Amino acid sequence: MKAIQVKQVGGPEVMELVELPVPQPKPNEALVKLAAAGVNFIDCYHREGRYKAPLPFVPGQEGAGVVTAVGAEVQSVKLGDRVAWAGLLGAYAEYAAVPADRLVPIPSGVSDQQAAAAMLQGMTAHYLLHDTHPLKRCETALVHAAAGGVGLLLVQLAHNIGARVIGTVSTEEKAKLARDAGADEIILYTQADFEAETKRLTGGKGVDVVYDSVGKTTFDKSLNVLRPRGMMALFGGSSGAVPPFDPIILTQKGSLFLTRPSLGHYIATGEELVARSGAVFGMIAAGKLKLRIEHVYPLAEAQRAHRDLEGRKTTGKLLLIP
Ligand code: NDP
Repeated sequence: MKAIQVKQVGGPEVMELVELPVPQPKPNEALVKLAAAGVNFIDCYHREGRYKAPLPFVPGQEGAGVVTAVGAEVQSVKLGDRVAWAGLLGAYAEYAAVPADRLVPIPSGVSDQQAAAAMLQGMTAHYLLHDTHPLKRCETALVHAAAGGVGLLLVQLAHNIGARVIGTVSTEEKAKLARDAGADEIILYTQADFEAETKRLTGGKGVDVVYDSVGKTTFDKSLNVLRPRGMMALFGGSSGAVPPFDPIILTQKGSLFLTRPSLGHYIATGEELVARSGAVFGMIAAGKLKLRIEHVYPLAEAQRAHRDLEGRKTTGKLLLIP
């Protein structure tokens, strides 16, 4: 089968298109023929070695497709089932062997591409909004990178709840997309100081929660725009990792809460995985959550996909098609 392989960590160029044997499913695994693999920022962290993975590895944390073989112990899925998963390496390939208890069924109102696009970013937006900081109607949220993959979904979910959403983006094109998704206010944080703007937009009160995936370049100011006892949900570092941090700063800035959550801990059990993915798929099928799948690349062009994502050229979801 064709697959993308990383033999040594580094820039996008370390991702090579290679021929590998089709994986043999272990007794608890199912073999999935991929229809699409999602591209996520975490794939860049694995590729560059910021997150460790044993070498060589096939990158990709998210996929959707059809079951073509099952291990002896597998009962939860069968041949021909349409399934999706997130959070396990190996999706940048024609086939992947996946533990059956990590697979979820794709409902009939959701296409394979939509499923591949929704699993990781959709469930992330869902847990951030409902569990990390259960956002209320009366609250204001600041969402950084509001036209990104997670960003556009977070904005829609927050808007649907009825909360006020302030989004940051780098360009006018991205501003329009975030507005269309439901952002009430947009700050072009490459041109204006988002701290001053957010304070102005909230009449000096500050926001209830910041969903910050940008990290290094936004973290300090994000703390400054929170109301006392507000929640800083730092869930990524697209601009780089946040340097070491003294917790006393949280006291000084208003007894703030800081969390650095990860999707894995919010879909740790089978029940939670099924419930969360089911909720996301349900909203997609009902037209309440719109996916923007603009950037679809052949598997062989994984390098280009990563360059575009890291170069801030993309909006919404990126997919690789094997
Ligand atoms: P995005 O589509 O959001 O792409 C990243 C965006 O970040 C860019 O488009 C850009 O938007 C913004 N950005 C700001 N500064 C930079 C920079 N210096 N370099 C590159 N991009 C920058 O990616 P994803 O939706 O895949 O992921 C978003 C973030 O969420 C990532 O940090 C990822 O690791 C994290 N994440 C965390 C999860 C968790 O559970 N903790 C799960 C899923 C994702 P703009 O041009 O508007 O500034």
